[in-house]
Amino acid sequence: MKKITIAIDGYSSTGKSTIAKQLAKALGYVYVDTGAMYRAITLFAMQNNFVGGAEENIKGLLENLASIKLKFSYNKALGFSEMYLNGENVEKDIRTLEVSKNVSRIAEIQEVREMLVAMQKDMGKEKGIVMDGRDIGTVVFPDAELKVFMTASADKRAYRRYKELLDRGDEVSFEEVLKNVESRDYIDSHREHSPLQKSEDAIEFDNSDMGLEEQFDRMYNFALRIIEKSKKDAN
Ligand code: C5P
Repeated sequence: MKKITIAIDGYSSTGKSTIAKQLAKALGYVYVDTGAMYRAITLFAMQNNFVGGAEENIKGLLENLASIKLKFSYNKALGFSEMYLNGENVEKDIRTLEVSKNVSRIAEIQEVREMLVAMQKDMGKEKGIVMDGRDIGTVVFPDAELKVFMTASADKRAYRRYKELLDRGDEVSFEEVLKNVESRDYIDSHREHSPLQKSEDAIEFDNSDMGLEEQFDRMYNFALRIIEKSKKDAN
C-alpha cells in the first residue's frame, strides 16, 4: 500500500498526540511526537540551570546543543516510543508543568529549531509517518499529503491537561494549567521563527465537542481517502 506523510499541528493540549498515536497504529505507520523533543531540550536546559532559574543563559545552552543526544525508543508494553535524553529515559520528567512553563521559551530559539527540524525531516524521509507538533505542515513537511490543524476552546484544553496531570499524581490547580496553556499558545503563535499557524492546505479540526472515537473515525477516513487517491494516481 502506498505510504503517505501525515502532519498534525495545533494548539496546546488539543489531543493531537492521542489521535496521532491511534492513527499511526491503525495504518502501521511510525508516530513522532515532536513536542517531546522540545521538552527534552528544555529539561536539559533546566537541569543545567540555563533556564528556569533567576538568570537565563541561552548562550550556555547553545554551546552545549550539539552534544545533546535525543532518541526515541519504542516501548512494546506501552505501545509507543519513549524519549531518551543522553541515554536516560525522561518520558515522565518532560511532561511536568515546570517543563511546560519553560518549553515555549526554548522553542523560540532558532538554533534549537534548526537542529530538531533537521532530525524530524530525516525521520520522515521514507514516508509512512504521523508527526505532530506546531510547524509540521508548514516547515517540516510542507508537502505532506494529509495536514490537519487541531483546535478546541482553551477551557476544554486546559481541563484535559489538568486531568492528565492529576492522574499522574501532580499537584496543580486548574487556573495554573489554564494560564500555562494560554501563555504557550501566545508565545508559539507570535514567535519569530516558524510560528504556530494553520497551513493553507490543512483541514481545520475543532474537537471541543467531539469524543475520541469520532475524532479517530474522521481522521482515519481522511487518511484512507488520500491513500486510495494516491494509489489511483500512481496507476
Ligand atoms: O506538543 P507539546 O505540548 O508537548 O509541545 C510542547 C511545546 O513545544 C509547545 O508549546 C511549543 O512551544 C513547542 N513545540 C514547537 N514545535 C513543535 C512541537 C512543539 O515549537 N513542532
